[in-house]
Amino acid sequence: MTTENHRPTWIDRLRELVLPIDCAGCAAPAAGQLCPRCHAELVSTRSVRLSCRDGPDRLGAGWYEGPLRRALVAYKERGRRALAMPLARLLSPVLTVLDGDVVCVPIPATAAARRRRGFDHVGRLASALASIDARMHVAPVLRARRRPDSVGLSATERVRAAESSFRVAPGAASRLRSFLERRALSLVVLDDIVTTGATAAAATRVLLSAGVRPRAVIAVAVVPPLYRKINLPWVVTSRT
Ligand SMILES: [Zn+2]
Repeated sequence: MTTENHRPTWIDRLRELVLPIDCAGCAAPAAGQLCPRCHAELVSTRSVRLSCRDGPDRLGAGWYEGPLRRALVAYKERGRRALAMPLARLLSPVLTVLDGDVVCVPIPATAAARRRRGFDHVGRLASALASIDARMHVAPVLRARRRPDSVGLSATERVRAAESSFRVAPGAASRLRSFLERRALSLVVLDDIVTTGATAAAATRVLLSAGVRPRAVIAVAVVPPLYRKINLPWVVTSRT
């Protein structure tokens, strides 16, 4: 998702630190990251579970729409880093469907994306999740290769681009395997948005080839099927 880009400047960051800020959900003046109305709407968001025929289920805190969509864009593209915590609090209940402790592998940003945004937005989200959920362990074992912008690519091209975009860090696979086996933990892949699922599917395949099997892909938001123009190999199985 590369629309609505706005590289945060030092003025944006200073403004976030010292001035009353706009609500990330509706742009109204707010004392915190979200106004009371958007906060209430977000905490009442119902989670989404997609069953995938050829991969792990996708679990999202909600659909990519309304205040959740705007808050995620503000976090990801406008440098509103402090939104990591409220977004993690929305996502945390999704993990309750998994038993026991959870090892989370964040989808890594490419070096170019990290430079453009000024931070690793999925990595920060993973850290925020771990800080509020003692069951969560973060294992940043994936590395991103340079990949083309997905805008304008066909579904097949997206899959092909995604497949070649990840690798497991040297030496990390065996450490992760023994950690998972020793403590019987669930492995999940964390992303910000599930759109076509190509990114998560590619990350899952790379992890499988390294000998570890993700139980689920979790994401802050899932793009509603209505907006998709391609046939996807999954169905919405529940919205709790
Ligand atoms: Zn608001």
